[in-house]
Amino acid sequence: MSASLTALAADKLADLEARNLRRWLKDSPRDGGSVIVRDGRRMISFCCNDYLNLSQDPRVIAAANAATARYGTGSGGSRLITGNYPLLGELEARLAALKGAEDCIVFGSGYLANIGIIPTLVGKQDVILADALIHNCMIAGSRLSGAAYHQFRHNDLQHLETLLQELRETHRHCLILTDGVFSMDGDLAPVPALLALAERHDAWLLTDDAHGIGVVGGGRGSSFAFGDKVEVPLQMGTLSKAVGSYGGYLCADRPVIDLMKTRAWSMVYSTGLPPGVVAASLAALDIIENEPDYCARPLANARLFCDLLGLPAPESPIVPIILGAETRALEASRKLEAEGFLVSAIRPPTVPAGTARLRLTFTACHEEADIRRLAAGVATVLEAAA
Ligand SMILES: *Cc1c(COP(=O)(O)O)cnc(C)c1O
Repeated sequence: MSASLTALAADKLADLEARNLRRWLKDSPRDGGSVIVRDGRRMISFCCNDYLNLSQDPRVIAAANAATARYGTGSGGSRLITGNYPLLGELEARLAALKGAEDCIVFGSGYLANIGIIPTLVGKQDVILADALIHNCMIAGSRLSGAAYHQFRHNDLQHLETLLQELRETHRHCLILTDGVFSMDGDLAPVPALLALAERHDAWLLTDDAHGIGVVGGGRGSSFAFGDKVEVPLQMGTLSKAVGSYGGYLCADRPVIDLMKTRAWSMVYSTGLPPGVVAASLAALDIIENEPDYCARPLANARLFCDLLGLPAPESPIVPIILGAETRALEASRKLEAEGFLVSAIRPPTVPAGTARLRLTFTACHEEADIRRLAAGVATVLEAAA
C-alpha cells in the first residue's frame, strides 16, 4: 500500500466534491422501454442514447444470442491475428452501404475509433482545426497525433476560414474535426458548408456521427440530413447509441480503410469485438434500413417537447436546457427525479464552464403522455430556478 498514492486520490476527490464536480456510478438497470430502476424506484429515463430502443428489441437480442452460441462470447484476439470472424466483414459492408462509402472499418468502440483514426492520418507537420465543442475522444486522438491543434468557435464557418487562411499553407496536411450531431447541444454541424470550405483549402473533413446514425438523415446520419448526400471523406460513428450495441466505425475510400487496418493502433493492438455484439449491430441495421417511420420517432418526440415549452425546434433527439451553475443543474435534475423522470445534469468538463445543463434525449418509445408530464415538470423547475 502506498500512503502517498491514496492521499493523492483522496485529495483530488475532495477538491472535485467541493466544486460540485465529483461523479458517482449508480446501478441503473433498465426495465423494457424507457423505464429505468434507480435506488429501487422506477423512473422514465430521458437520458438514454438508445434512441431506437434496439438494445431491448427481441430481434436484436435473438441475433446476439445465436451468434454467441455459434461463435462464442469473445473473438479471441486482435483482428489481424485470429479475431476476424466473418460477421465483422459483413457489418463493415453494411455500414459502407448505409453511409454511401466505398469501405468501412469497425473498431472496438467510438472512443477507440477516434484515438486510432486521427494519429493514423496526421502528425507533427500537420494541423488540426476542431470545432470548440467536439467530443473528448477526438481531442484525445488529436493529442496522440502530435499535430498542431486549433479550435474554431462552435459552428462558426467564418472563424474556420480565417484559421485556414492563417494556418493551411504552413502545414503539410489539415484535418477538420466536428461532431455531425453535437452530443451535448443536439444541433447539427453545417456539413455541406464545412465540406466546401475544406475542399477549397485542401483539408480533410471528419464528422463524428455518434448521435446521427439511426436518427437523422433518414437513419443514415448527418451527411444525409441536408438533401443530397454530402461527400464527407471521413464519416466516423458509433454502434453504441441508436444502433443499441457496441463498437465504432469509419467509412471512407478503400485505401484510407486499408491504411487503418494496417496502422490504426487502437484496432491493431486491441481485441476484435465479441460476435454477439456484432450480430446485434447487424440485426439493428436491418431495422434502421427497413423502418424509416420508426427512426423518425425520436426527433418527432423531441419536437413535441420543444413545442410544449416554446423552445426552438430541435435538429436531433438531444435537447439541452442550459442552466449555468453546476448547483442549478444538479438541483433541477433532483427535482425531476422526485417526479419520476431521470434527466441527467451535465457539468464541466463535459461542457464548457458556466454552461451546466439538463440534457434530455428522446427515444422512439417515449409515450406522448409522459412527454407532456415531463414538459410540465421542466416548466415548474425552470420557474423555480428563474
Ligand atoms: C458517445 C460518443 C463517442 C464514443 O463512442 P463509444 O462507442 O461510446 O466509445 C464518440 N463521439 C461522440 C460524439 C459521442 O457522443
